[in-house]
Amino acid sequence: MEVRVAKVYNPYPAGETNVYIINDELVFDSGINLPQSVDMLKKALSDANLDFEGARLVISHPHADHFGSAYLFRNVMAHENACHKLYDAEKRYFELVYAHFGLEGMPEALAEKMRERAEKKYAGLVKPCTCCGRVGEKIEANGDVLDVIHVPGHSYGHIALYHRESGSLFSGDILLDGITPNPVIEPLNEFERMPVLEQYLNTLKKLYGLEVSRVYPGHRGVIENHRKVIEEYVRSFENRSFQVLEIADEKTAFEIATTLFDDIRQLFLIMSETIAQVDFLANRGFLERGDDGRYRVTAERRELEEEWRGIKEEIFRA
Ligand SMILES: [Zn+2]
Repeated sequence: MEVRVAKVYNPYPAGETNVYIINDELVFDSGINLPQSVDMLKKALSDANLDFEGARLVISHPHADHFGSAYLFRNVMAHENACHKLYDAEKRYFELVYAHFGLEGMPEALAEKMRERAEKKYAGLVKPCTCCGRVGEKIEANGDVLDVIHVPGHSYGHIALYHRESGSLFSGDILLDGITPNPVIEPLNEFERMPVLEQYLNTLKKLYGLEVSRVYPGHRGVIENHRKVIEEYVRSFENRSFQVLEIADEKTAFEIATTLFDDIRQLFLIMSETIAQVDFLANRGFLERGDDGRYRVTAERRELEEEWRGIKEEIFRA
């Protein structure tokens, strides 16, 4: 299997998006829709003798820095949930997110301001992609067959591609070198949302059991030891859960978030991460959510230690 990588400009903190071209035929992720990013994408395609008409594009997950310019292609595939989000460039998704932020204690005026700002900023970075089709369980690239693996946790519509023979995993953002990706909020409707941290842990268990020699991630460099990265992620989720449990009593998620994190310019991410944690702790009986949106601590630290011992045994048994 031959892999080309193009590092495409991305204004977000994760840095350049890796666009992969597999066997000069299959493109994995397109990058964001900024002029310099699209130029870099075009150059990468022409180096592989491809163009927007002929190339097949697979999207790892529906975040702007991975699919923003997907609308330029004729043949686009992604997870079904991702296709929905590509279709309206995540408009509906963001409406629901800010409704949840409001439910979780963020002042309405702030939630509204964030929503407006995001809408404005986002408009230039993505365009709706209306020709997305659901990806199958396997995908072929010039003779090589890749397994499509559903890897929810950072985004529900997230897939990874796995080439068994060479032990290559195209991971999108589910595994990155040196940073723990955010378990980003995933609303189902105005009131319900997915248990994203539980999903992330299940995904890590699945990936821990795979034989992988090289991970080609969505940002940054190739990962040689994927199990070590997974161990770091589990440790970081675990540590965060103790921090949240310690301060959660009588607070809303918004108050927990702004107590835990200083950099409120990253409010979207810190709300996401905090909501992922309170949902995780509430689902497992460590917190109770009152009708006023305030959480009450209902178990002790040592019980959470016990819980994590079990979780880790489960993941690392693989
Ligand atoms: Zn992402």
